[in-house]
Amino acid sequence: MNILICTIIFVIGTMLGSFYNVVGYRIPKNESIIYPQSHCPNCNHRLKPYELIPIISYIIQKGRCRKCNAKISPFYMIFEFLTGFLFLISYLTFGLTTNLIIPLTLISMLIIITISDYLYMIIPDSVLIIFATGILIEIGILYGIDKALISILNGALAFIAMFLLKKFGDFIFKRESMGGGDIKLMFILGMVLSFPIALLSVFVGSLIGLPISLIMLKKGSDHIIPFGPFLAAGAILLLLTKVDINTIINFYKY
Ligand SMILES: [Zn+2]
Repeated sequence: MNILICTIIFVIGTMLGSFYNVVGYRIPKNESIIYPQSHCPNCNHRLKPYELIPIISYIIQKGRCRKCNAKISPFYMIFEFLTGFLFLISYLTFGLTTNLIIPLTLISMLIIITISDYLYMIIPDSVLIIFATGILIEIGILYGIDKALISILNGALAFIAMFLLKKFGDFIFKRESMGGGDIKLMFILGMVLSFPIALLSVFVGSLIGLPISLIMLKKGSDHIIPFGPFLAAGAILLLLTKVDINTIINFYKY
């Protein structure tokens, strides 16, 4: 572990996280991710470069707009930090090797999806398509065409399993148990994590989601959290702990 590389990777993560905030916030609204430049939602004050430094600007300005003093939601700062943190953990897990590329790509997509699913209950198709294509190309280049074809098969199996799970859930709960976006997302999770592990991420995501949903419900919050962010959290946990099918088999053996 090298402190300098750790710092660089964390900082790059926070900068990308800042961009992912913009993508996750604007894509579902069909807005350009380049124009207009970031501005204060209250007074429209255009943010200067020194007001756009991830995390630091927010802390220095004490979470307020420099011009109109309006409070800025910590939401965006949290995702800047989270991206930096997850990039750092990925580096510590996979090292500075080509094996780091796909985990960082997947995490980037899951951050964007979590933001838009949380804000609008939408997992944008455009984001899924771009990342599915990107990841497939990455697998093909890094690990060969065979692996890319296997990953498509894994994705398809995960997609079908999730579709059936949704049908089953709808029947049990007598309402929409999960959105179409979650099912499409499973294709990509299957591609990267393999089919059985992608399914496991549904289970892990539910375990994370249940207590949080119960707490929110008890607090009387009316903001319904969609399943996407929990599915993303489950997938990231399994990705970073490198759980594979052998881990599961060994778990049952002993
Ligand atoms: Zn302002």
